[in-house]
Amino acid sequence: MTSSSAPNGCPRARPGCAGLLLRWQVFRDGTTHIRAECAACGAFVRYVRQTPEAIRRAGPPPTPGGEA
Ligand SMILES: [Zn+2]
Repeated sequence: MTSSSAPNGCPRARPGCAGLLLRWQVFRDGTTHIRAECAACGAFVRYVRQTPEAIRRAGPPPTPGGEA
């Protein structure tokens, strides 16, 4: 079994996988989280803490309950 993974932690670990894309995600309970996706293939990598830098990279946070 191979435990190798992409440098960015992408579970797919494809040859081109690199970089992380941070996006906001709203859970069903209305809480907002920042999820990191592989910038190459879009696979979910992990949730990240909402540090100022992470928030800046994720862009404007969604308004809870704003869009049904
Ligand atoms: Zn990937």
